Amino acid sequence: MSLQNKGPIYGVYLPAELPLGANGWTQVVPRRDELEQVRKKVGDRTVAALEIALKHCASLSQQLLESTKNYSISFDLLLARSGFDLSQCTHCGCAVICIPDGLALCKACAEKAGEE
Ligand SMILES: [Zn+2]
Repeated sequence: MSLQNKGPIYGVYLPAELPLGANGWTQVVPRRDELEQVRKKVGDRTVAALEIALKHCASLSQQLLESTKNYSISFDLLLARSGFDLSQCTHCGCAVICIPDGLALCKACAEKAGEE
């Protein structure tokens, strides 16, 4: 596995794409160099959250594969089973991954709130 396939924070495997729903669509996964740009421009938390979500998806995918032999598992299904929520930042409205029932806040808004 080349370095380019590993996340910059936790070294989580970065697949080229993930299945999205049952219609055959796929979601392209950012490459390591793209995630490095996100780290610089947005911050570590966003990249860390993606890596954690991908890790959960990979392990759940493996479990489902072993138990059901189902090879077409969608990212949204795995995300739904991971315990993470996709939500909007309560301040600016951007999409964030957050813990269930946690305060949906992007890093930029969290830092602003911390300064006030
Ligand atoms: Zn925000």
